[in-house]
Amino acid sequence: MCENADDLILGIDLGGSKILAAVVDPQGRMLSSDESVTPATEGCEVVIQSIVDSARSALEQACVAISEISAVGIGAPGISNPEAGILFTSPNLPGWREVLLRDIIQDRLGKKAFLINDANAAALGEFYFGAARGAHNFIYITLSTGIGAGIVIDGTIYTGAIGTAGEVGHMTIDDNGPVCNCGNKGCWEVLASGTALAREAKRGIQEGVRTSILKYVDGDLERVTAQVIHKAAEQGDKFAKELIARIGYYVGVGLTNLINIFNPELIVIGGGLSNIGDMLLGPAFKTAGQRAYKEAFQAVRFASAQLGRNSGVLGAAAFALQKIRGLPRE
Ligand SMILES: [Zn+2]
Repeated sequence: MCENADDLILGIDLGGSKILAAVVDPQGRMLSSDESVTPATEGCEVVIQSIVDSARSALEQACVAISEISAVGIGAPGISNPEAGILFTSPNLPGWREVLLRDIIQDRLGKKAFLINDANAAALGEFYFGAARGAHNFIYITLSTGIGAGIVIDGTIYTGAIGTAGEVGHMTIDDNGPVCNCGNKGCWEVLASGTALAREAKRGIQEGVRTSILKYVDGDLERVTAQVIHKAAEQGDKFAKELIARIGYYVGVGLTNLINIFNPELIVIGGGLSNIGDMLLGPAFKTAGQRAYKEAFQAVRFASAQLGRNSGVLGAAAFALQKIRGLPRE
């Protein structure tokens, strides 16, 4: 029960709504996991205490002492600098400004810690334990309420000058498009995310388009989500199908840019919106095939993410593992 392999890692996935902590072995097996609600509105110190409590609970469940852990990996949402271990800001954690999260967790737990952005963590998780095993140059994309990504070049996350690289959700697709949360107009995520799908459906309904979508939410427009639209589309709703294809088209425009800039061998796609599958991704791949450089498009493979809701915690563990061990062997 309490047999311990070498290099056990404590992975922590700090999200805007939940904290997940797990003891992870070098093969990506989770020996324990502890999930708790993020007390995001109660401020930084309360959240940090919850992280520490969750971490200790994960250790206890795995019958592992902190002294038996090789390192701690923390994945966090928002803009961070992994070298300095600072979380600058996070849209999901109100009030957090330039928090030295890595050092704080390191001090409280008494173990070497590493901090990484959550989407970058998920990319490394897929690289070590999921759909991107064996790839060298790939991009991980999560299509969700927004769009996040991790860019892996020669097996290492590309983080840029101060650690903010990979914000592909905020590349401009339509210079006069809708205003994004970041302040720019026409960002990829404002046109190709689950939020975009719901927004366009609501607009169409308000304009009087014929659709069955409201039937699935008892007529309550506010409850229209990407999942509801998907359900209507599966039942043959023409408007819902057209909307998903339109969002898919924009997903494809963004993929075109990534393919032309990075010439990746693989693009791994995850996130709740991607569960729609062919209805969304068919138009996306078709658009990328029509628009991207032919040679680069022919060289890229697409795969679904494999780690699901554990991608963050496994990815944070993978990052810590990479920091203490270097790149995985072929
Ligand atoms: Zn933006």
